[in-house]
Amino acid sequence: GDFPVEVDTLVIGSGPGGYVAAIRAAQLGQKVTVVEKGNLGGVCLNVGCIPSKALIEAGHRFHDAGNSEDMGISVDKVSLDFSKVQEWKQGVVEKLTGGVEGLLKGNSVDIVKGEAYFVDEETVRIMDDKSSQTYKFKNCIVATGSRPVELPAFKYTERVVSSTGALGLKEVPEKLVVIGGGYIGVELGSAYANLGAEVTILEGTKAILPGFEKQMSQLVAKRLKKNGVTIKTEAFAQSVEESDSGVKVKAEIKGKEETFEGDYLLVTVGRKPNTDELGLEQAGVELDDKGLIKIDKQCRTTSSNIYAIGDIVAGPQLAHKASYEAKVAAEAISGEPAEIDYTAIPEVVFSGPELASVGLKEKEAKEQGYDIEVAKFPFAANGRALSLNATEGFVKMITRKEDGLVLGVQIAGEHASDMISEACVAIEAGMTAEDLALTIHAHPSLGEITMETAEVALGMPIHIV
Ligand code: FAD
Repeated sequence: GDFPVEVDTLVIGSGPGGYVAAIRAAQLGQKVTVVEKGNLGGVCLNVGCIPSKALIEAGHRFHDAGNSEDMGISVDKVSLDFSKVQEWKQGVVEKLTGGVEGLLKGNSVDIVKGEAYFVDEETVRIMDDKSSQTYKFKNCIVATGSRPVELPAFKYTERVVSSTGALGLKEVPEKLVVIGGGYIGVELGSAYANLGAEVTILEGTKAILPGFEKQMSQLVAKRLKKNGVTIKTEAFAQSVEESDSGVKVKAEIKGKEETFEGDYLLVTVGRKPNTDELGLEQAGVELDDKGLIKIDKQCRTTSSNIYAIGDIVAGPQLAHKASYEAKVAAEAISGEPAEIDYTAIPEVVFSGPELASVGLKEKEAKEQGYDIEVAKFPFAANGRALSLNATEGFVKMITRKEDGLVLGVQIAGEHASDMISEACVAIEAGMTAEDLALTIHAHPSLGEITMETAEVALGMPIHIV
């Protein structure tokens, strides 16, 4: 209809940015409406973080069941019903997205289904299949997320798939070709390798996981190779030929052309912010040259009542970063002096072994002019790691020489994704290596590796010489 619906805080998108912003804004007393054009929970819950981790876990269990002879466990035949894996994975997704709906309703947030488009700086039109309705808002938080980049030579089809397609395959490919050795390519590639696929990863740079330190990404490359994955670096995929039964990918590798055959081709070459079909220009919201929305320290855009968070603003495209910004934006609207501080955003790869990093890496700390101490402690010297049969990896800690302030921590090893939280707290709280070393850690636990790394920084580790 022509009469606009008046709302206070309008949140566009219900991913880990949008739904968290909605809940926090409601908790702070705002009257909140969320609009979502797809499924509640966004990329993360539906086709990102959660289903990928479910598939990775299924891969681990299947692979480990047949590879535990060194612990005296052998299984005659491990079998896989992949449709059941998919069913279980989808069940996990539905439990969580249903949970988000319950949480929104429980916080009296109104949910509107449809696609929002800005008309001006206080109005959006929301369209669904049948109708169109105008909404006037006092404040708006834009959290529309991102989508896979589609390369002209690799249009998505049944067999040329994005991460979304790869998560939804009905069968484990016999052969899978992956373009892109970033974290999504590595995670999904290793999940399918563990489930029995013959996987080839084509990466353009000199190494997979280029954002991580060499020593860490090399551990992952080593494990992938052990599990039968072929990694081709400095490999530039040129074209794909598709038939009913598979794909043929041509790539140039160090100047030579090679062809790779597979049942499917997964293309993971980055994600594009959903800022192009929103009418942002009509609302006075400016973008930078990468198509990301410009924001200030409170996530406020160039239009003072409109905020932006998550994958559509600068910084790592990660769910926890979106949720963090969500809380800042919600608080800013309530007039609180919240400000973003990116010092301690963890980055994790759920590879084998897992990689995690928070704060400054050695190189960054040096570049920023810090006089640093670098301490390292291996998983192999920790009792819990031995009893988990997970002795690969290390914790590395970067501290400021003058006072031991923890500047950064990198972890390679099983459960690095959980272990990194302690490092986040340490950096967030301004703790020193001594603080960590004097904290009593349960024995036997992987957390002791962090404690001992701090002891290395102090020059007095107990369990290595
Ligand atoms: P999104 O989650 O993308 O949500 C945006 C929502 O807005 C969508 O639901 C969309 O439908 C909706 N929307 C868009 N436009 C409109 C409109 N005009 N009107 C109404 N609704 C609209 N991150 C991690 O931290 N850890 C991980 O392990 C991890 N794994 C990943 C694995 C994969 C395979 C992928 C693809 C991503 C992964 N990510 C991971 C990244 C993570 O999913 C994103 O960083 C996160 O979802 C971003 O949250 P967001 O709220 O900004 O946007």
